Amino acid sequence: MDEFTTPERTALAETVREFTQRHITAELPQWEAEGRIPVKLHRLAGEAGLAGLSYPEAVGGSGGDLVDTTIMIEEMLGAGASGGLIAGLFTQGIATPHVIDEAQRRRDRGETQAADYLEDNYIRPVMAGDMIASLGVTEPDGGSDVSGLRTRAQSDPEDPDTLIVNGAKTFITSAIRADYVTTAVRTGGPGAAGVSLLVIPTAAPGFTVARELDKMGWRCSDTAELAFVDVRVPRLNLLGAEQGFASLARHFAVERLTLAVTGYATAQRCLDLTIEYARNRETFGKPLISRQVIRHDLVEMHRQIDVARTYTRDVVLAHARGEEVMTRALIAKQTAVDTCSYVVDRAVQIHGGAGYMKDSEVERHYRDSRILGIGGGANEVMTDLASKLLGY
Ligand SMILES: Cc1cc2nc3c(=O)[nH]c(=O)nc-3n(C[C@H](O)[C@H](O)[C@H](O)COP(=O)(O)OP(=O)(O)OC[C@H]3O[C@@H](n4cnc5c(N)ncnc54)[C@H](O)[C@@H]3O)c2cc1C
Repeated sequence: MDEFTTPERTALAETVREFTQRHITAELPQWEAEGRIPVKLHRLAGEAGLAGLSYPEAVGGSGGDLVDTTIMIEEMLGAGASGGLIAGLFTQGIATPHVIDEAQRRRDRGETQAADYLEDNYIRPVMAGDMIASLGVTEPDGGSDVSGLRTRAQSDPEDPDTLIVNGAKTFITSAIRADYVTTAVRTGGPGAAGVSLLVIPTAAPGFTVARELDKMGWRCSDTAELAFVDVRVPRLNLLGAEQGFASLARHFAVERLTLAVTGYATAQRCLDLTIEYARNRETFGKPLISRQVIRHDLVEMHRQIDVARTYTRDVVLAHARGEEVMTRALIAKQTAVDTCSYVVDRAVQIHGGAGYMKDSEVERHYRDSRILGIGGGANEVMTDLASKLLGY
């Protein structure tokens, strides 16, 4: 037994597998075609304790830490879900931690009412699966350079308790269905120091989904371009003045680790499907798996997955122990992304023409996984950051 296989976590794995088989696998192709997952799935995830997994019980979460999230992602993908499904169902993973941090800061300062306001309106409903939260950072002008963002929130000269937002965001996951978007806005001067995070309710007048975006993969996860025209937002929704960049940087490690887990778990699913296919498919009168070249291919897939999983899980454990893991999270993501790219390609190849067909699961993983080296920090940007952190 290790920290991933304690009795509680074995039970969690079982719950997730059952949840996926019961509520997701059969309907996923339809959601892929419709371009979104139903709101009711969030409620079901809330009831099962999955929407609040790894969040503090004090704010309505189910408790646990990143090890539990890792198990959930591994098991969902292993049972036939997809990276897009996980991105769409658990978008709060990138949106809500900033709100939780600010509520805690308010509590620490004795501002109980202001903390309750965030907790009651924007945290507990998400943990229960009654609300959907998105994170809006990327803008049409660019996503990698967060410090250059232009969406602006200014004080209303006639009402100091209100901020007025103007600008645009793009590629925002779950934003078509979201109830609020934790939005990176400029409240101060140029550069990273002028960036704040602001919770913008999507029902606010002036907020619009300017365009629903069509994508290569993650097709069941809705993605939108957003416009903000004189959107009035209570100042209470500001998550610390000019603390936005620091907050984003602090939580990037977790986003990158969950993308790393998505990478190796997608690869593991593709390997499992490919082994089964190679056992059953005959070419030239013999099962594919009888060919040495195919067996060596499978071993290479296994080798890369095992290395990516072992390294990523080690970093996840370090994070759960409270260690600083920024550099190791970058390395884990790069390793798992490369592994996933290699494995999905070999999986499609070994499936032959069937692997190129829309109804094959490996075809979907092949398309879905392409985002992993772009989102949550593009490969080149992460390597550059790693070189700075390593002092090279
Ligand atoms: C399906 C999907 C979902 C997304 N969900 C969200 C979301 O929920 N919220 C959100 O805020 N954003 C989201 N994004 C946006 C994502 O984070 C950005 O696409 C990503 O940060 C890259 O930004 P960009 O697309 O503007 O590319 P750019 O910043 O224009 O960069 C283009 C490419 O240039 C290269 N590059 C960039 N900078 C450098 C450099 N300094 N040196 C060398 N090469 C470089 C990289 O290869 C990069 O991919 C999503 C994107 C997609 C596709």
